[in-house]
Amino acid sequence: MSNVLVLVDHVGGKVRKTTAELLTIARRLGEPVAVYIGAGVTDALPALGQYGATKVIALTDAELGQYLVAPKAEALQQVAAKVEPAVILIPSSAEGKEIAARLAVKLESGLITDAVDVQAGDDGPVTTQSVFAGNYTVQAKVTHGTPIITVKPNAATPEVAETGPEVEEFEVSISDAAKTARITESKPREATGRPELTEAAIIVSGGRGTGGDFGPVEAFADSLGAAVGASRAAVDSGWYPHAYQVGQTGKTVSPQLYVAAGISGAIQHRAGMQTSKTIVAVNKDEEAPIFELVDFGVVGDLHKVLPAATEEVTKR
Ligand code: FAD
Repeated sequence: MSNVLVLVDHVGGKVRKTTAELLTIARRLGEPVAVYIGAGVTDALPALGQYGATKVIALTDAELGQYLVAPKAEALQQVAAKVEPAVILIPSSAEGKEIAARLAVKLESGLITDAVDVQAGDDGPVTTQSVFAGNYTVQAKVTHGTPIITVKPNAATPEVAETGPEVEEFEVSISDAAKTARITESKPREATGRPELTEAAIIVSGGRGTGGDFGPVEAFADSLGAAVGASRAAVDSGWYPHAYQVGQTGKTVSPQLYVAAGISGAIQHRAGMQTSKTIVAVNKDEEAPIFELVDFGVVGDLHKVLPAATEEVTKR
């Protein structure tokens, strides 16, 4: 079977759920080989075998973390020369997409970004992309070079497949040309104590209907151990940071439960949440388009409905 390279998505050595999703997809296409770029080998690396990584290549040179993405693309090019993968899967984050683009130029390969599904085809992987705010799905395949595919979060449900991967440290050499943008400071976002939006099992999102008061949304989210999301109208009004925006120009989420409070259900918002397993809306307008999409709907004022729901959940 041919190797499928998977770039490990992690924050400070803590592996993110998207990595398990990518490894699950990789198993459909060949033998997953995980590539970790970070400081020091951590316990998290052998654990990648839980999702079927047959090998982990660790690039732990501290210099790789000191610069923006260019050295990482160079490093991956050297790993690709060694592993000769049939496919390269990269998380569809802003950084992942820049690495992928640079790598595609270096390998003279075709690149597909933002895949929401990848399946094995007769002559290489076939990707699915959701375009025009989710109005069309496009299937595509790379016709030149080693297919490089960036995959959106929640494109697959992680499936466990225990392997005992060998972790191999691999030294790369980085050219001076790639060291042109150095990181001078990096600050983690203020911790909210809530799960990360794209990884959360439950999300409670607020829209213009909050009137700028996200208190009831946050309180209900906290009673459920959920993440908080926001519509663009709420973000554009300055009521919630852009990092929490769900939709076409925000994050794509696919939790078990998505609660939309005071959100009308515009197509651009749906594009980011319509694959959620169960959708609940609270809206005072019974004609709101969001109700076309929901599993459960509550017609009412979110400032009354959410505190009542929070009280009920907290009692249990
Ligand atoms: P509105 O559409 O104003 O809806 C507010 C809703 O709240 C209404 O249904 C109202 O009945 C209800 N309401 C009011 N008061 C209450 C109350 N007290 N209790 C309960 N319900 C109440 N939008 C996104 O969300 N994400 C994106 O990524 C995104 N990207 C976009 C990209 C482009 C190129 C464009 C053109 C638009 C994009 N939009 C996006 C904007 C999108 O078209 C909508 O304008 C936006 O989603 C509306 O946000 P909203 O539902 O919060 O506000």
